[in-house]
Amino acid sequence: MPPKIAEVIDYDVCAACGACEAVCPIGAVTVKKAAGIRDPNDLSLYEKGGGYQVCEGCLTCSRVCPVVDGFIQDELTNVRKFFGARSKDNVGSQDGGVASGILKSLFKQGKIDCAVGITRNEKWEPEVVLLTSAEDVERTRGTKYTSDPVLAALREAFEKYDRIAVIGVPCQAHAAHLIRENVNEKIVLIIGLLCMESFHHDVMLEKIIPEILKVKLEDIRKMEFTKGKFWVYTKDGEVHSVPIKDVAKFARNPCHHCCDYTSVFADISVGSVGAPDGWNSVFIRTEIGEKYFDMVREDMEIMEDPKPGLELVEKLIGMKRKGNAEHFLEVCEKFSFETGIRNETI
Ligand SMILES: Cc1cc2nc3c(=O)[nH]c(=O)nc-3n(C[C@H](O)[C@H](O)[C@H](O)COP(=O)(O)OP(=O)(O)OC[C@H]3O[C@@H](n4cnc5c(N)ncnc54)[C@H](O)[C@@H]3O)c2cc1C
Ligand code: SF4
Ligand code: SF4
Ligand code: SF4
Repeated sequence: MPPKIAEVIDYDVCAACGACEAVCPIGAVTVKKAAGIRDPNDLSLYEKGGGYQVCEGCLTCSRVCPVVDGFIQDELTNVRKFFGARSKDNVGSQDGGVASGILKSLFKQGKIDCAVGITRNEKWEPEVVLLTSAEDVERTRGTKYTSDPVLAALREAFEKYDRIAVIGVPCQAHAAHLIRENVNEKIVLIIGLLCMESFHHDVMLEKIIPEILKVKLEDIRKMEFTKGKFWVYTKDGEVHSVPIKDVAKFARNPCHHCCDYTSVFADISVGSVGAPDGWNSVFIRTEIGEKYFDMVREDMEIMEDPKPGLELVEKLIGMKRKGNAEHFLEVCEKFSFETGIRNETI
């Protein structure tokens, strides 16, 4: 019997998180680099055939797939603490630098051996990297709105390191949680980002930026989705923008079925929405999250009760689910296995 992930792939709702590649004991699955996909309507993310010919049906991959696991109805159910924060060392970061700041501080204190991250070159082509020092973290600052199978890098990390931190968008944070629960306990900390959607490389780098925004990739310093627009800041100080609705329709298919905005399965979630410009919104969700944030607190400035706060986060959770929940439940009806949107406290 083929693993459940075969259906996730066939129905084009595979988030390409890379978890199945990380855990398959015989290396039977490979998540293609999203860069290789030229047609955004053809989401055949897998090297089909070869992989499944050697599949031994152990179903490990099915136990770590966030789509097989489904979503949680109330994604703020496990928020223990919510506050604003910014790292005292945040130059080059997307917002307040909390994501990089946590990792840098933990590396300096010798609390983690390795973390996964995404770097990019001048042309904004991303690359998944294993980080082993505070210096390595510098290379990963800034948001890339393209998608990469970050968790696939865990395959190598599990072989070489014992205390691993994962940072990624909600589908990746969810899959990392499932790996930690079901397969490998070496993941000591999961930092989840907030995420409305992401894009295939080619769509972002060959269509949205050059054709819609009419900007050269190598001139770009920073990209940002905020306040209803997609903003591109260039090195010469110019600012270009288009309404989000003009680009959101090009988001990847799984993102149109995704019902997690705030990384409900992370230990610590980090975003920009809910906090003032230049700050991060921070959600502590687990005991592990509390423990690790306490270790790095001295390297952060904290803002209690940030504005606009959780009210805006809740509004955006609702916006993301509108349509997406319906799309996901329609696919669930086609699956041969039970999944959906669970009404449960985690
Ligand atoms: C695709 C995407 C969509 C997002 N949408 C929202 C949103 O709607 N609302 C919101 O509040 N926040 C959103 N964020 C999060 C936000 O952009 C910042 O990442 C977050 O606020 C942390 O800021 P920082 O200054 O601490 O990050 P930094 O200190 O700059 O660190 C950035 C970290 O993000 C990682 N990273 C960058 N790109 C990716 C990627 N594509 N996949 C996985 N990891 C990546 C890097 O490895 C690095 O560890 C999104 C992020 C991504 C990647
Ligand atoms: S069922 Fe087992 S062998 Fe087959 S792809 Fe999944 S993890 Fe690999
Ligand atoms: S584990 Fe991730 S990459 Fe694998 S099928 Fe599921 S969503 Fe896709
Ligand atoms: S919306 Fe974000 S979290 Fe959801 S599948 Fe897309 S990239 Fe992953």
